[in-house]
Amino acid sequence: MTRWENWGRNVSATPTAVHRPGSTEEVADLVRQTADRVGRLRPVGSGHSFTAVAAPSDAQVRLDNLTGILRADREAHTVTVAAGTPLHELSPALEHIGLAMINLGDIDRQTISGAIATGTHGTGAGLTGLADAVRGLTIVTGDGTVRRVHRDQDPDLVRLLAVGLGAYGIVTEIELDVMAAYRLRALEQPEPLAAVLDQAEAIAGRHRHFEFYWFPHTERVLTKRNDIAEPGTGRSLPQWRESLDDHLLANVAFEQINRLVTRRPTLAPRINQVSARVLSRREFADASYRVFCTRRDVRFVESEYAIPRAALAPVLRELARWVDASGEHIAFPVEVRFAAADEVALSTAYQRDSAYVAIHQYYRRDASRYFAAFEAIVAEHDGRPHWGKLHTLDADRLAELYPRFREAQALRDEFDPSRVFTNDYLDRVLG
Ligand SMILES: Cc1cc2nc3c(=O)[nH]c(=O)nc-3n(C[C@H](O)[C@H](O)[C@H](O)COP(=O)(O)OP(=O)(O)OC[C@H]3O[C@@H](n4cnc5c(N)ncnc54)[C@H](O)[C@@H]3O)c2cc1C
Repeated sequence: MTRWENWGRNVSATPTAVHRPGSTEEVADLVRQTADRVGRLRPVGSGHSFTAVAAPSDAQVRLDNLTGILRADREAHTVTVAAGTPLHELSPALEHIGLAMINLGDIDRQTISGAIATGTHGTGAGLTGLADAVRGLTIVTGDGTVRRVHRDQDPDLVRLLAVGLGAYGIVTEIELDVMAAYRLRALEQPEPLAAVLDQAEAIAGRHRHFEFYWFPHTERVLTKRNDIAEPGTGRSLPQWRESLDDHLLANVAFEQINRLVTRRPTLAPRINQVSARVLSRREFADASYRVFCTRRDVRFVESEYAIPRAALAPVLRELARWVDASGEHIAFPVEVRFAAADEVALSTAYQRDSAYVAIHQYYRRDASRYFAAFEAIVAEHDGRPHWGKLHTLDADRLAELYPRFREAQALRDEFDPSRVFTNDYLDRVLG
């Protein structure tokens, strides 16, 4: 038996078996056999969730034999993708046929099904999360039935199933809205926190993508604005600059900084002051997925909440006050992003234009006090936690935050009445 561990190294389990089915029919057989022996089966993607959402309590299913683009309609801008496809394979494959994802998060290691199941999002005040692009799904339910659900026939069911936390069944195929391949022009620069907070919504409204990183213990942020570039315009970063910024500074040096801060936490404020000042402006253009996704070698744990946009400044100010008063020393920047309201039942941006605030801690340091304080702050603003990032909410609280929560619970009873797919995390968050 092999031990399974998530990327953040804060969740591990030893599945009783690991299955790698090669087709929807094989998935269905496996579910039927598991249901017959009253066992449990947990689908897992790339293990990039910080919560125990993917942790198996019995057997585990990996879909790494179900990958690739199965069908594409270049005129209609739709593709059907095998559920185990990792984003870092999907984007280049889409580019090859002149297509691209509408938006992406900041890494590309996740599988498409894992990313959608937890409501993974990127940034963009006018753009929605990945799950909103779902047109249809093939899903194997708790008794091994294969169901094909499509927006054309049952849009509401697609909205309920999309952010599914692996609770309704095992998804084997996903049809997605995509768009014509595009380049992005990126502008990254240091700015004062106060000015950015004052203008955050307005700036976000002016750019297709806007996000910023606040350096705790300082009044400085790094902003990132990405907009669509005319084909052939703009230059990609020279290789040396990309290696220096994205590999050496963001990963190698940052790892050393975190090791140092783990030994001497009081150095964090001074290091953040320096980091926030040495960052220089850079402008470049590249294929969209290359601009969105960065390399993350420094391991951390993370909590992220979606809040109403008007709550962004109060939340960040309160967090800054807590950091100053608490004696905690935080080396990791706090990430702020935006998304438009959507209609996906368990999406963190359900019917609410949202700002996202994400906090991080190096995986070797204790995050508990910091994360608890953050959670108390966002609770005052009806914060909805990212399903794949650390939080302590349970079904009762989540039912208050999600108007369609009871319907999602009822759908789970219908799709998986004997709880073949459950685990401790789902028992907590779905009841
Ligand atoms: C370094 C890092 C950066 C990140 N950046 C972002 C970001 O920019 N934006 C953001 O929103 N999130 C981000 N995340 C969170 C991440 O996108 C989510 O946690 C995502 O769910 C991880 O995908 P995965 O393939 O690893 O899925 P896992 O974590 O393995 O699984 C997640 C869920 O999907 C379910 N699942 C997987 N496959 C299937 C299937 N075939 N059928 C049904 N259910 C399935 C699992 O059961 C589980 O419930 C980041 C995480 C890390 C570690």
